[in-house]
Amino acid sequence: MGASAAGRRGGAGGAGASHGSPEPGPATGPGSPRARALAGRRAGARGGALTLVDVEEFVVPLELVDETLEPLQEAGRHGYEAFVLWGGRFAGDGRRFEFISAYFPEQTTSRAEEGLLVTVEGEALFRVNRAFYRRGLTLAGQVHSHPTDAYHSDTDDAYPLMTLIGGLSGVVPDFGDGGRARLHEWAWYRLVGRGEWAPLGEETRITFR
Ligand SMILES: [Zn+2]
Repeated sequence: MGASAAGRRGGAGGAGASHGSPEPGPATGPGSPRARALAGRRAGARGGALTLVDVEEFVVPLELVDETLEPLQEAGRHGYEAFVLWGGRFAGDGRRFEFISAYFPEQTTSRAEEGLLVTVEGEALFRVNRAFYRRGLTLAGQVHSHPTDAYHSDTDDAYPLMTLIGGLSGVVPDFGDGGRARLHEWAWYRLVGRGEWAPLGEETRITFR
């Protein structure tokens, strides 16, 4: 299971999220085609505006982790998955990205036949983007909870809320039970193409502090 956002992106009324498939995606690693695709994009992106593709290190304050866990655990107490979005800024020469703010968008969660379903409407997503934009932040990360195992489901792959190539997606196991002490069990992925996510490889570092 998992949760995710969006369907019909770009259409009137915007994004709904859906959720589902308990099937883990295919195993991929640093040497996988997906990871190589990211490296290739990175090499081709020199000289322009800063893009997430060029980021080699993501910095995540531990307070942000706590702020994220709070709504995830609360939803979990009711048996639901939930999504939190992270905004931040580029740092240094653009090889580093520092997350600064966590936003819990208005969302509805329900039980669907194929698992839990999280829906974030287009209007709610717009409000998140506007809030980040006004503070000069970029929506570059999403974190959501699962009832048990942490992995990106097929639905998570297909309907992300964070849609910038090079951005980060974290999946939290057991509805966040155990809190920050289990941070090392979160599963992390990067968006390497439309609907294509790769598990973090050697090209990416996440620093918690
Ligand atoms: Zn999921």
